[in-house]
Formats: sequence, structure tokens, C-alpha cells
Amino acid sequence: MDKITLSKMEFEGHTGCLDFEKVDGQKFIVSLDIFLDRIKGCYSDELADTVDYAMIYEEVKKIVTEDKGNLIECLAQKVADGVLKTDGRILKVIVNISKPEAPVKGIFETMAVTIERRRKEFVVLSLGSNLGDREANILAAEQALKELSGTEDFRYASIYETEPVGLEDQPYFLNTCVGFYTDIDPFELLDKIHVIENDLMRKREVHWGPRTIDIDIIFYGDEVIMKPELTVPHPRWYLRSFVTVPLRDIKDVDIEHPDDKEVSLYRKR
Ligand code: ADP
Ligand code: MG
Repeated sequence: MDKITLSKMEFEGHTGCLDFEKVDGQKFIVSLDIFLDRIKGCYSDELADTVDYAMIYEEVKKIVTEDKGNLIECLAQKVADGVLKTDGRILKVIVNISKPEAPVKGIFETMAVTIERRRKEFVVLSLGSNLGDREANILAAEQALKELSGTEDFRYASIYETEPVGLEDQPYFLNTCVGFYTDIDPFELLDKIHVIENDLMRKREVHWGPRTIDIDIIFYGDEVIMKPELTVPHPRWYLRSFVTVPLRDIKDVDIEHPDDKEVSLYRKR
């Protein structure tokens, strides 16, 4: 990735927990590291083939000078959101906000916060359960995903009852898909999925055995990841009706559906 830096921009801001900070204002110093895929302007020398530095500066200035909130953490989030909105080519931004005159007694150079935010991608997960209260397991997994910070705008598919594929001598499954926007890194998302799977299984420790929930990442935006611990898009998603059928319920999202002739095999609950 290529990086553009706007560093140590100085503004008069009013963000702070103390009343006089909101009234008097103080110096805020903001630095940005902006990441893009290989910048076309490197080759074309055209202004339109890179981001507009002045526009980003003005956006940050507006956010920082107009903010009336308490925390620089929250201000940094607003700056990150604002910067990502200025140009769709920006994939990630690191925001550092510092208050060198923070009202804290003592000697220090500055007090600062740094956050790293990537552009939100639309993610689709496949959920399945064939043990215990299958519907409750799926709903609990969906709830846990919703509670993750950095996930929003959820789209749910209906839940379908499906015949087990592969190993036939086991109970029928309930399957569904869920889609949402997230800025959680794909590998971090996989870790969080494993925690959710483990939490749901732990509740049924007495009947330890087959899993009560399986959560797979089907798509992560347009990203292609080919690692043993994470392959995205899921290598066999288009072959599995228990994925392709619920996937059709995820609306308003540009997903190319394969021509699936097995649709009628599964009944909607
Ligand atoms: P399965 O989903 O194949 O029934 P598991 O849920 O136990 O089996 O997953 C086994 C491993 O597959 C996970 O630990 C994970 O690292 C890896 N994996 C690779 N690609 C994906 C993906 N797209 N979604 C979820 N897990 C994946
Ligand atoms: Mg899995």
C-alpha cells in the first residue's frame, strides 16, 4: 500500500471533559497516515489520480474546530470517518490527535490518542447448527456478532432446515446467512468468530461433541485471501445450497448468485 501523510496540523478545538475546555478552547495537533492501493498518480502525474490533500485538510479542520464532545478518542473516530468519506480510494487511515496543553498538572510533551480505521467492507457469514436448540444457537451467534464493536447495518436471511451434507448420520441442520458492514480486519474477525463459537459451545459442555454452531466467512468485500487459516471467498460456497439459498435473502448487496437448481430442496421455516 502507498501512504500519504498530513502531519502536525494545528487547530483550535473545544473537545474536552472540563467545562472551561469547551468554552476557552485549546491547541489540537492532528496527524494522518492515509493508505491507498498503488496510487495511479505515481505514473500519470495527473491531479485526479491521487487524493485531494486540501479537501482532506478542510474536512479535518471542520471536524476538529466544530467538535463539542468530551473525548479525543471520539474526536479521532469522527476524523477517521470523515477522512474515509472524502475519497473512496482511501483504504485505511491512522489518526493521531494530541492535546499538548491538556489540563493535567505535571510536565509532559503532549497527551495523544492514535487509532487505525479501515474502510468498512460488506461481509457475509454462513451460520449453521445441528445440535441443541439450533434456532437459539443461531440467534445467539447473530446477537454476539451484532454486539462486536465495529459491525453495523445488519442484513439477515431466513433460517432454513437442511439435510446434512457429507456425513449423513447426524441431525438436520438449521442454516442461515448474515451480512453486515465492518472495519474489523478479516483475521481479527475470524478470531472473534472463534470466540463466539467457543462461547456457544461452552454452554453445552455436558454434551460435548459435535458443534452447536459453525460460522464461516463467505465474503469479505471483494477481498481474496488464500491462507490456510482463512480462505475468502469461502472455497466451496457456491456448491453448497445451505449457503447459496439463504444468501438470496441478503438484499441490496451486489452478490453474484450462482444458478442454483437445488433451491426447492430446502424448506423455509
Ligand atoms: P468447517 O467450517 O470446515 O466445518 P471449522 O469451523 O472447524 O470447520 O473450521 C476449520 C478452520 O477453517 C478454522 O479454524 C479456520 O481457520 C479455517 N478457515 C479457512 N477459511 C475459512 C473461512 N472462510 N471461514 C471460516 N473458517 C475458515
Ligand atoms: Mg467453520
